[in-house]
Formats: sequence, structure tokens, C-alpha cells
Amino acid sequence: IEKLKHTTAVENIFFFENTTSTMDEAKKISENNKNLAHKSLIVALNQTQGRGRKNRHWLSFGENIYASYIYLPKNLMPQDGLFVMFAGCIAIVLALKQIGIDAKIKWPNDCLVSDKKIAGVLVDAKSDISSIDEIIIGFGVNINWADIPEETNATSVYEVTKKTTDRLFILDKIVQYLEALIKLIENKRKSNIIKLWRLYDTTLSRKVEIISDSKKIIGKASDIDEYGFLLVETQNGIQRIITSDSVRFL
Ligand code: ATP
Repeated sequence: IEKLKHTTAVENIFFFENTTSTMDEAKKISENNKNLAHKSLIVALNQTQGRGRKNRHWLSFGENIYASYIYLPKNLMPQDGLFVMFAGCIAIVLALKQIGIDAKIKWPNDCLVSDKKIAGVLVDAKSDISSIDEIIIGFGVNINWADIPEETNATSVYEVTKKTTDRLFILDKIVQYLEALIKLIENKRKSNIIKLWRLYDTTLSRKVEIISDSKKIIGKASDIDEYGFLLVETQNGIQRIITSDSVRFL
């Protein structure tokens, strides 16, 4: 674990054998000492209440990555939160590339291999009207999870490679890429994030169903806009802007 501290990306490491969720621990750490929280990495071996977006359950079985990273940005605007989520996905894809895994990004927060979810990213941003003063980025990356239930549509590094992988090696890479990518956003280079996102994306030009409480939209994912929102073209030619709802591939 201490090895993770060798980069400038990580200032403090908090390690838990077991916790409810690394997001909960990250919140406590930032509440207790905001000034020291910057670049803190919270790592757990197991989680009992892992979360996805909208309080969905994140299955936390097996030797996977469960981690959260706290970053106190200098120059991020409230609308940059989605780009931080993209940065999280790109960082995971680049880290998995190092062990020969070809993962793709599904808008907005998932990484897939052969259309099965290998990782998810969660972003919790604290902002006022003009800026974000804290972001906590959570990662669940399925590494050595072997007995994945059929109905989950999940996969893992183990399932893809049939080999056990050092999860801390992958986490180290993720955090290093993530820090570099967040800096790009801070330096107003969001176009670079969009370029990388497009390079690894598997959402655009696919037929999708958008699932939300109030409506169901079917159409083609045509593009993302300057805010990172997904544009979906419905059959009658109307363009809908999707800001946070879930996407299902048809
Ligand atoms: P979707 O369910 O369409 O992927 P989403 O991208 O918003 O929606 P998240 O909130 O990111 O989903 O993640 C939660 C969902 O991911 C769960 O509802 C479940 O379907 C799936 N899931 C939960 N745990 C895992 C896991 N360890 N690996 C892969 N998928 C998981």
C-alpha cells in the first residue's frame, strides 16, 4: 500500500480492510480535516455497502479495486463535474491497457469489455455557483472476481485474462492518469479530454434506450455536446439532451 505514495498524485493513503464504502470514508476524512484531504487515496479490501449512481448497489465481491480519491481543485467550474467522471473512465481504460485489456467507455460513467461492465466511476462534487471546491472520485474496478453471477452483466480482469492481477498496480496507474487528466481540465484543456473520450467511447452511433423515472427515450446516441451531455436522436428526428439518465444499449 505504501508504494502507492511514490507519485505526486497521492499525498495520503487511508487503508481499510473492511468498510461500508470508500465514499463514506472519504467524506469523513474531508469533514475532519479539509486541508489535509487533498490527494488522499482511500482504499478498501472489502465494502459492505458499495454504491453506484443514484444510490444503486455496487456489488463488492472478491478481490477488486474499491477506492476513492479526494482532490481539491483550484480552477474547476460546477459544470466540469461530468468531465471529471470522463477523466475517471479514461484513467481506468488507460490503466487496463497496460495489462493488455481493451476496455471501452459507456457514457457517462462505465467501462466495458465486450459490452460487460468491468468498472464504474462515481463523482461527488462540492461546489458553489462559481467553482468546485472538492471532488471525490470513487472507483469500482473488477479485478480478480472469478464467480460472477450471469445476471449481473459484469466482467472482471480475471474473467478476461484468466490470470490473477495485482490490484494495487492497476490502482496506482489509475490514480496517476487521473491526476494528470484532472490537471488538463483545470488548465482549460477540456477538448483533450473529449478527444480521449471519443477515442475510447463505445456509446456513440449506437441504438440506445434512455431510462429515467419519468420518460423512456429510444434513439441513436449521436454525439456529446460541449458540456459532455449525451445527444440522442429519436426516430422522428428530434434531438434530446441527456444529462444524467442511464443508457441501455439495444
Ligand atoms: P446501468 O445499470 O445502466 O449501468 P449506471 O451506469 O448508472 O446504470 P451505476 O450506478 O454506475 O450504473 O452502477 C450501478 C449498476 O451497476 C447496478 O445497478 C448494477 O446493474 C451494476 N453493478 C453493480 N455492481 C457491479 C459490479 N461490481 N460490476 C459491474 N456492474 C455492477
